[in-house]
Amino acid sequence: MLNPFKSKTWTDPDGTVQLIKRLFSENFRTYIPQYLLAFVFMAMIAATTAASAWIMRDVVNEVFVNKDSTMVYLIAITVLLIFSLKGASTYGQMVVLARVGNSIVADLQRRMFDHLIRQDQTYYDRLSLAEINVRVGQGVNAARTTLDLVIVTLGRDILTLIGLTFVMVYQNPLLSLFALITMPPAVIGVAFLVRRVKEYAKRQVVSTAKIGAAMQESVLGVKTVKAFGMEPIMRKRMEVGVLEVQKQSNKIASLSARTSPLMDTLGGFAIALVIFYGGYSVINLGQDPGALFSFITALLLAYDPARRLARLNVNLGKQIVGLRLMYELVDSEPVMQDKENAGDLQIRGGKIEYRDVAFSYGESAALRGASFVAQPGRMTALVGASGAGKSTVFSLIERLYDPDSGDILIDDLSITSCKISSLRDNIGYVSQDAYLFNVSIRDNIVVGKPDASIEEIEEAAKAANAHDFIMALPEGYNTRAGEGGNNLSGGQRQRISIARAMLRDAPILLLDEATSALDAESESKIQSALETLMDGRTTLVIAHRLSTVRHAHQIHVMDQGKVIESGTHQELFDHDGIYRRLCELQFQNRDEAAE
Ligand code: ADP
Repeated sequence: MLNPFKSKTWTDPDGTVQLIKRLFSENFRTYIPQYLLAFVFMAMIAATTAASAWIMRDVVNEVFVNKDSTMVYLIAITVLLIFSLKGASTYGQMVVLARVGNSIVADLQRRMFDHLIRQDQTYYDRLSLAEINVRVGQGVNAARTTLDLVIVTLGRDILTLIGLTFVMVYQNPLLSLFALITMPPAVIGVAFLVRRVKEYAKRQVVSTAKIGAAMQESVLGVKTVKAFGMEPIMRKRMEVGVLEVQKQSNKIASLSARTSPLMDTLGGFAIALVIFYGGYSVINLGQDPGALFSFITALLLAYDPARRLARLNVNLGKQIVGLRLMYELVDSEPVMQDKENAGDLQIRGGKIEYRDVAFSYGESAALRGASFVAQPGRMTALVGASGAGKSTVFSLIERLYDPDSGDILIDDLSITSCKISSLRDNIGYVSQDAYLFNVSIRDNIVVGKPDASIEEIEEAAKAANAHDFIMALPEGYNTRAGEGGNNLSGGQRQRISIARAMLRDAPILLLDEATSALDAESESKIQSALETLMDGRTTLVIAHRLSTVRHAHQIHVMDQGKVIESGTHQELFDHDGIYRRLCELQFQNRDEAAE
């Protein structure tokens, strides 16, 4: 039976304690020696603070009441010692905790990146870069702040309070009771504030992601933004997020700050009460003035750690959202996993077969029972209007997604039966607009085969008709490609991408032909490079040009997620179907362009 007192939802509706416990259980053990050391420092801080209150009794009684001059020196030196020791311990504690904190942050960043890089395409379809940034950035910060808050408050502040309470109770037990009565209203008031802070912290994260998204899109799409004069629109989008964050931050600040008047008033009340009653008993009942002074000092010193302790929950409340976002990210496992008995893909010829494959991106169907075969070692073209499902066919072969129904086979074996990594090792991919990383051209090509020698890289570049233009660049193969390959032209980028695929030397090739018009020279160079690349490989081409299609061993025409016609160029042209209309459209466009 479910025990409500053990259930997380009962004890901790929003999982705050659970999350903090997890943060500690994952990180505490590795750093036990450091934490112990920090604890020793904190105990020293607590002891010296208590001692500084304790000594006030002698300051008053020996110096002011008894006027004992030898004691003056002794007390002065002791005070100096106490405060120096406190300073040194605070230094030690701060340094040790900062080092541990930095190490935990570094570790969390590694873990989060590891998770991100393992995720499937589906994951990135759902999350924007800005959201990921917020999760990583805020998550790490939240983890660090939480660790610091919990350790410093629970360690140093509680120890200090214990030390000071000991001094207070020793000097005057009755007055200690007076000071205690202010506790319950403080706790109740703070609990109320915590709930509201958490609420606003949650909203703030969402708005921060909005700002991130607007920034990111403005930067990535800077050319379009400029060309269409979209600056005001982007500014407006940004403004929405900025205003929201500003509003929520103000709200959080004012809620957090409300703990101050609350605590100050209650603290003032406690101190006033003590002075009133304490003063009365010293003046009228002849009690020890030193003891009262020591008591008041301890009470004043206790005020700060007590306030921090009361605010702990409010401050943790601000961090919980970030912590939860981080753990959500760390916990999400890739959907696409290798089957238990999956082996390496053994390519015999490299025949690709689509059998009645259906697939949808969420609600929208992209493939609705597509079937076709790409013969081993030959070139097969996919043609069809935009949105017909051609790119999706590629994504499914690479297992960026798995079909909803139907099967994809390579050499008559389902691609789900082999390891995803070995499947991808056997596939070369040349995209329309190759993504280049902002590293050297050499490092961009070597992606195809990480252990390739310089000779192999140059050979691949030569076969891709890229060597000559690379050598003409200021730093040859060491030239940086710029962000996203911006330093190179579209045609050059494509040849780099062909060189990558050459180097990979995979038996299956997926080729997404460029739609954008290239100059005649680039086009002929790319064409001849592609012919070298395709030779002897099972090649599936998303074809936009008749020149490519004509050479294809077989053409599959796609429409609304299905293959509706298959054959050679001549067969399909004679058939007088969609393919013929696509051809005629292309001729017509060309004629118009020529006019
Ligand atoms: P093609 O390559 O023939 O232009 P696609 O395979 O890109 O066609 O797209 C097929 C359909 O799937 C289209 O309706 C398109 O809008 C949709 N689609 C493609 N990619 C995604 C995606 N990541 N999320 C949602 N829908 C998508």
